Amino acid sequence: MDPYPAPVSRLIEKLGKLPGIGRKSATRMAFHILNAPRSYCEELATAVMGVKDDIRLCKKCFNLADAGLCGICRNPKRDEHLICVVEDPSDLIAIELTGGYRGLYHVLHGHLDPLQGKGPDTLHIEELLMRLKTEPVKEVIIATNPDAPGTTTALYLQKRLAPFNVKITRLAQGIPVGGDIEFVDSRTLIASLKRRSEF
Ligand SMILES: [Zn+2]
Repeated sequence: MDPYPAPVSRLIEKLGKLPGIGRKSATRMAFHILNAPRSYCEELATAVMGVKDDIRLCKKCFNLADAGLCGICRNPKRDEHLICVVEDPSDLIAIELTGGYRGLYHVLHGHLDPLQGKGPDTLHIEELLMRLKTEPVKEVIIATNPDAPGTTTALYLQKRLAPFNVKITRLAQGIPVGGDIEFVDSRTLIASLKRRSEF
């Protein structure tokens, strides 16, 4: 039988659903919250709801945004001739943290995976093609992950981008095959951006 009063039990259960948090850690966190000042608990609850209520997707690049356009698309200092295509916002953050890229992005929100029923319609690909028609883009850097779905996605993008008058490049090797851009160290990521090769 669950030894905790229902509200504590509920909190443990919810915290335990967070990635990497087992029941033991969830219990420790729940008791920390239980003993914390009320003001902290209110701030925590507001912060959690804030990411649900105040975060939307940038209407241009589909990065996370707190307004119509994300901070990168709003920044006039970014090089609008370059678009780096990534699978997820976390990949964009990894590239941003390197400080070595000054262009714009386009976030697909996933990758192609025919076995999982994930076709091109599930990604923001049409919107990317539309951007190529309306923005002064000279180069599209395909920065999908170097695993099987990421490579499938890259090859599909290459085919769809070919009719446009833009240079298409792919991140250079250096990122381990099967690896995830999000977890690659900054130096490797900068190097693979600099040594990107034409498709
Ligand atoms: Zn944006």
